[in-house]
This record gives sequence, C-alpha cells and structure tokens, in this order.
Amino acid sequence: MTRNKHHVVVGAGAAGLAAASAMRDNGFAGRITVVDADPHTPYERPPLSKEYLSDRRLREILAETEYRRLGVELRLGVGVRRLRPADRRIDTADGDELAADRVLLATGVSARRLDVPGADLGNILTLRDADDAAALTTRLSAGGPLVVVGGGFVGLEIAASASERGIDVTVVELGDLPLLAAVGPDIARRICRLHTDRGVRISTRRTVDAFVGSHVVEAVRLSTGERLDAATVVVGCGVVPNDGLARQAGIACADGIPVDELGRTSDPWIWAAGDIAAHVNPHMGRRGRIEHWDVARRHGAAVGASMAGTATVNREIPYFWSHQYAHTLQMYGRGRPGDRVVVRDSTTGPGFVAFWMRDGRVAAAAALDEPRDVRSAKVLAENRSAVSDDVLRSAGTDLRRVARQLGHMDAPRDADVAG
Ligand SMILES: Cc1cc2nc3c(=O)[nH]c(=O)nc-3n(C[C@H](O)[C@H](O)[C@H](O)COP(=O)(O)OP(=O)(O)OC[C@H]3O[C@@H](n4cnc5c(N)ncnc54)[C@H](O)[C@@H]3O)c2cc1C
Repeated sequence: MTRNKHHVVVGAGAAGLAAASAMRDNGFAGRITVVDADPHTPYERPPLSKEYLSDRRLREILAETEYRRLGVELRLGVGVRRLRPADRRIDTADGDELAADRVLLATGVSARRLDVPGADLGNILTLRDADDAAALTTRLSAGGPLVVVGGGFVGLEIAASASERGIDVTVVELGDLPLLAAVGPDIARRICRLHTDRGVRISTRRTVDAFVGSHVVEAVRLSTGERLDAATVVVGCGVVPNDGLARQAGIACADGIPVDELGRTSDPWIWAAGDIAAHVNPHMGRRGRIEHWDVARRHGAAVGASMAGTATVNREIPYFWSHQYAHTLQMYGRGRPGDRVVVRDSTTGPGFVAFWMRDGRVAAAAALDEPRDVRSAKVLAENRSAVSDDVLRSAGTDLRRVARQLGHMDAPRDADVAG
C-alpha cells in the first residue's frame, strides 16, 4: 500500500511536475509534496526568451485546479537546504524538516556567469527564471545597445526580440559560428543569416576580457581589444547543473547526476529527472544531460511512473524548438561530428528540412518553418530510415509517403501533421 508513503519532489519545473502527475497516474496514493525555491506559480521557461519579452505573461505549467485534482502539495518560495539520506529527511530553508520515502531531484540548471573584471556591474543579466525575464524586459524597454555574450538558442532568441524592437544588437560568440555544436555549420549559417539580414552583428572568435563602467555596464572589452558600447549585456554562456544537494548528500555527480534508465541515482532513496539528470537516451548513444523542455517533461513523467512502481523508460527521440523572428526551428535527435547533412530548401523562403545522415540512414532531422514535413522527417529519424540523398533533397518528394512506403506504420496522417 502506498497510502502512507510520502514522495518529495525538489523542483517544480517541467520534469518535477510531470513526475508528480505521473506518480498519481500510476497509482501512487500517498502524499506528494513539490518544493521549489522560486515563489511564482510554476511556469514554462521557453516563453521567457520569446513571447514573454513582449507580453510579460507567465504561462503556467498546470492550471491551479490540477494541483488539487492530483492532490499535490506545492511549497513555493522555499529552497531545499539539505538531504539527509541516513534519516530519510529533507531540511528546507525555512527551518522545516520533511520525512520522505522517496525523493526526486528535478533541480535543473543555473545560468553560468562570466568571471571577468566588471562582471558585478549593473545591467549585466542572465536569463533563467521569471525574475530574470522581468528584469530583461525592463532593460529592453530602456533601449540599446544590447550585447549578447554567447550565441546559443536563448541568446539568439533574445537578440531577435531586441532587434524586432529596433534595438542595436551585437552577439559575441567564442566559436566560429553560433549554434555550431547544436546544428553544424550549414544550418548554423542559415540561422545566423536571419539575424544579420536584420542588422544584428554577429562577432565570432571573440571572448569577453572585461565589462567596463562605473556602477552600470557601459561597454564590453573583447579579447581582440575591440570595445562595444552596451546599455545592457545578457550573458548566455551555458549552464551549470544544480547538483549541490546531490553532492552534499554524497551521491555520484558528473556534469549533472548520473541516473539509470529508470531515473535512480547511486542512492536508492534519491531519483533524478530533467535537465539535471545525466541519462542514456537511446537516440543519443551516450549518457548526457539534454536541456530541452519536451525531454524534461517526458523524462520526468517516466521517472515519476517508475517511482510509483511502474518501471518506465523514456525512449522518445529528443525534440526541441526555437522561435526567432517569425521563424520556427524544430529538431528531432542530434547530429554528430562526421554526419553528412542533406538539406532540402523551401522554394518560397528561408525554410528548409535538413537530415543528418549516418551510415546511409537518417539519424536526426530539423526544419525551419516546415512543421508538416518535420513530423515526417521525425518518423524517418526515429526509425533510422535508409533514404537516398536525392529523394530527401528533392522538393517534389512527399516525405509522409516515403515514411509510409518504408513501412513505418506510425507515419503521421494529414490530421497529425497540421502543426
Ligand atoms: C529562457 C529559456 C528558454 C528556453 N527555450 C527552450 C525552447 O525553446 N525549447 C526547448 O526545448 N527548451 C527550451 N529551454 C530549456 C527548457 O526550459 C528546460 O530544458 C526545462 O525547463 C528543464 O526542466 P527541468 O524541470 O529539468 O528544470 P527547471 O525548469 O530548471 O526547473 C528546476 C526547478 O528547480 C528549482 N530548484 C533548484 N534547486 C532547488 C532547491 N535547492 N530547492 C528548491 N528548488 C530548487 C528551481 O527553482 C527550478 O524551478 C529554455 C530554457 C530557458 C531558461
């Protein structure tokens, strides 16, 4: 009987809440408490670098009635200070102590800060939570110039929002191109063009030597000696896993918390899910953290089901999307160095469908502004379909038909591919 049991989830993000829901859906009848240091009603993070910057509206992950329906106790604005595996107890920052039969760490990651002179000046921001997004929106209202340090997806989305407001934007990137590791040179170049066509400067092979100013930032000094004027700087230089609780509890950590296929850590009391969890996704081929919303949700749901006693493994191909200007990039799976990228261009705009080919088979797929084709491309990637370059590249190819002909019965029908 689970009625007298208590599961505590640390982190009310995509993974933590999906896990709590899945515990109930899988018959866990005990008490579920979700604790989060963030005081806001749990919200979706992806809009923070997109719609939120213009409409300032937080999108709640679950409707308030859903917490009641699920019987989930939310404790917001309360950090967890310490896990005590030997006593099976959790100390919260407000001095409380929770007895728990199982603990899920869904603590996510924090934005990495730059350790250079001037890093403490005002108006140097990062973007991870609702308060960061509110601060950034206020700064964008004050105008530019804006310097974005780091050309990852979040940095480029901020650059797009700012540029759409008429703000002068420079993106500073250490590598040869933004997004190189995520999508490779061909696709990265296409995404960069969306920005440079609108006047955003992308300054590559440079890093920040110092921020300059008296109380607030006034300029950024680059490794090349250049000086960029800045009213606001956003640092988007990667993340660090929030693994402090895990380390202090003595469980194994290595770029996040390594977990087995069910989400178990090296301590049987503690489980982990979402961005913090270094897990093996069958489509990635190696253990690692995956920082995508959809993956956090699905991984959280699988781990929550497992914690409730229904062993569940998330085998879905990783998915992410990014909105920049009026464009949407969607990707299933991930390319690897050595993959060959075959691109089918749209006949009407900058859109495309791209296929990462490994051993003659589709291993990953992405598309810009092609929501219908990307769903069929997903089917080809998750089935590792062998399709010739010419067929993939041809604008006349019906990808859905190709998927069907190859016998992938789950190839989407018209209604499934609409958006
Ligand atoms: C601005 C932004 C835009 C993004 N856009 C996209 C996108 O377009 N597409 C996409 O696929 N992904 C996107 N992502 C990534 C996606 O949001 C994450 O992968 C996802 O939120 C991870 O969910 P999670 O539940 O693992 O962690 P999180 O959402 O980070 O939640 C972790 C929670 O744990 C809490 N916590 C941490 N430590 C403690 C503690 N000691 N005590 C109590 N609580 C604690 C935190 O307050 C936090 O609420 C974006 C992320 C950001 C920041």
